[in-house]
Amino acid sequence: MSTPGKDQYKIIDHAYDVVIVGAGGAGLRATLGMSAAGLSTACITKVFPTRSHTVAAQGGMSASLGNMGPDSWQWHMYDTVKGSDWLGDQDAIEYMCREAVPAVIELEHFGVPFSRTEEGKIYQRSFGGMTTHFGEGRAERTCAAADRTGHAILHTLYQQSLKHKAEFFIEYFAIDLIMDDGVCRGVLAWDLATGELHRFRAHMVVLATGGCGRAYFSATSAHTCTGDGSAMVLRAGLPLQDMEFVQFHPTGIYGAGVLITEGVRGEGGYLTNSEGERFMERYAPNAKDLASRDVVSRSMTIEINEGRGVGPGKDHIYLHLEHLGAGIIEERLPGIAESARIFAGVDVTKEPIPVLPTVHYNMGGIPTNYRGEVVTLMDDDPDCVVPGLMAIGEAACVSVHGANRLGSNSLLDIVVFGRAAGLRAAELIKPGTPHKPLPESSVEHILARFDKTRNASGATPTARIRDNMQRTMQKHAAVFRTGESMQEGVDRMTEVFNSFADVGVSDRGLVWNTDLVETLELENLLIQAQVIIQGALNRTESRGGHAREDYPDRDDENWMKHTLAWIDRKGEVKFDYRPVHMYTLSDECEVIPPKKRVY
Ligand SMILES: Cc1cc2nc3c(=O)[nH]c(=O)nc-3n(C[C@H](O)[C@H](O)[C@H](O)COP(=O)(O)OP(=O)(O)OC[C@H]3O[C@@H](n4cnc5c(N)ncnc54)[C@H](O)[C@@H]3O)c2cc1C
Repeated sequence: MSTPGKDQYKIIDHAYDVVIVGAGGAGLRATLGMSAAGLSTACITKVFPTRSHTVAAQGGMSASLGNMGPDSWQWHMYDTVKGSDWLGDQDAIEYMCREAVPAVIELEHFGVPFSRTEEGKIYQRSFGGMTTHFGEGRAERTCAAADRTGHAILHTLYQQSLKHKAEFFIEYFAIDLIMDDGVCRGVLAWDLATGELHRFRAHMVVLATGGCGRAYFSATSAHTCTGDGSAMVLRAGLPLQDMEFVQFHPTGIYGAGVLITEGVRGEGGYLTNSEGERFMERYAPNAKDLASRDVVSRSMTIEINEGRGVGPGKDHIYLHLEHLGAGIIEERLPGIAESARIFAGVDVTKEPIPVLPTVHYNMGGIPTNYRGEVVTLMDDDPDCVVPGLMAIGEAACVSVHGANRLGSNSLLDIVVFGRAAGLRAAELIKPGTPHKPLPESSVEHILARFDKTRNASGATPTARIRDNMQRTMQKHAAVFRTGESMQEGVDRMTEVFNSFADVGVSDRGLVWNTDLVETLELENLLIQAQVIIQGALNRTESRGGHAREDYPDRDDENWMKHTLAWIDRKGEVKFDYRPVHMYTLSDECEVIPPKKRVY
């Protein structure tokens, strides 16, 4: 079998005004906006657009439409800042909550088939942490298309993108960014079907590559959620932000990890322990089962740790929706009924669903401003823009979710900031602007890494290294964390990271080489796992999704700041910090000062 050196790869060249990597909700909203603005637009995606993880989003998208009761974007902003445990940037949060209302109306006009109220308005349900009157009442703010909202949004955005002249490169795997003197000039991608390599030049590269849930063993995210764009950013010598904040969703199906939406509790579902007690009433007397996800996940973990879990191993919790009745379940939660039947063998009209906190979302990611532009710390400027590079969606850290994301704020985030990136690109780029020539050497090191991995002939299979990483992360960067367990985890992860030097890829081909795809994805996951677990050990406080038993309190004096983490080739992680934006964009809302949280 031939093993061509890096000089033997044939490269096909393309030039566009903008290139978007990723065709989930974020990538498609940006693709749509940029192509509609007259920019020549390419969208590269490793899976067919409507297979992106956004398709799996169930519960809905928040916006203070006030269709079911009083609501305002200021209340939404208050909840989001509080939910973020004061790590969210308040300018970006204001932008998102204000833009939410027009964003949903726009989606409705694009054709998203939202569920309806009796008067024909968009149906809205309650979600965790969403209140009215600055914490007083319970808001119904989450716009839903039954329990298939992500599916509806993704299909609609894909159809809309096709209407404009965006060009799709489907089942193309983006390998790395083409950087030239601190400026992003394009991206190198591999066409999985033909085996050809493609060099895309662009005035703006937009990373919309989603989260890295698959660094963990039990995750609700798709197997494709390997944070490839974030890894490209790390390899380009740029930092990721707040990666230690990983959200555990309270209700993954026990054993399978498949998600049961928070919308179930929004419709009146509740949790019980082995004594049949609705224990959330004890932990969060006001919000109860709809307290924010970090609170519910921790309460469930405490119940299990104290011996009140259900099942033979006393190691999970029950989620009840039998009392809602078959009619409501059929109308509003049909997908959940199906998932519970398939993955837990449960008829939800008769029995509770066995559930367990499961990794669900990365609050951290590529640092950006609220226009989608990637920023880094440079010469004391914490908001220094990286020219030619944007990031949006779960790959990005804007940061609107801070230390903990509220349910239904991510579908909102991807649509609002996908749109914002389009608006900003249209301001910055004149359609058809010629490209400067690229230095010949621009892709050499990318090809060298690709070729090395493709020809890796070590003794350790990719799957074994991945399994070791996932189990280490699951055990040592869990719902509850201690310095001791994390130090053990850091040592173990370093061993796992180093074991990649001995990886073996058995397929040397270039056409549909899934062995190589998985190995490249593993390489991407390994650097992010290092950043997550070392960042968690480094942050000596408890905030949002990061709960340390040895530092149980939030420490605003020392830690109300964003972590920035860089990693070198040897896996050594370095940290620095950016201040949280404690200012707003307009005078129509006030900065929300930190205070103790009461649930
Ligand atoms: C089961 C589940 C349910 C959820 N429910 C909700 C909900 O009800 N409400 C809510 O607000 N949020 C929800 N979330 C969170 C939310 O759905 C996601 O955060 C969001 O959809 C992410 O969108 P995205 O566009 O950033 O990325 P994704 O939808 O993950 O898309 C990533 C894209 O990047 C592409 N890509 C990745 N790597 C490469 C590469 N190397 N080369 C080329 N292309 C690449 C992929 O092909 C894909 O098109 C849910 C998440 C999960 C997992």
